[in-house]
Amino acid sequence: MDLLKKCVSCGKYSLNAKCACGGETKIPHPPKYSIGDKYSQYRRKEKYG
Ligand SMILES: [Zn+2]
Repeated sequence: MDLLKKCVSCGKYSLNAKCACGGETKIPHPPKYSIGDKYSQYRRKEKYG
């Protein structure tokens, strides 16, 4: 799991909730919910198919 966040202010990577510059940090790669949903649908089809 990638816990590295990116500062929205200066663009630097940080592990903290706030960057050294005072800006907010956010995870650059959000979790892919759509792919997980796809897999669960496929699994369900396999189970009852
Ligand atoms: Zn920053």
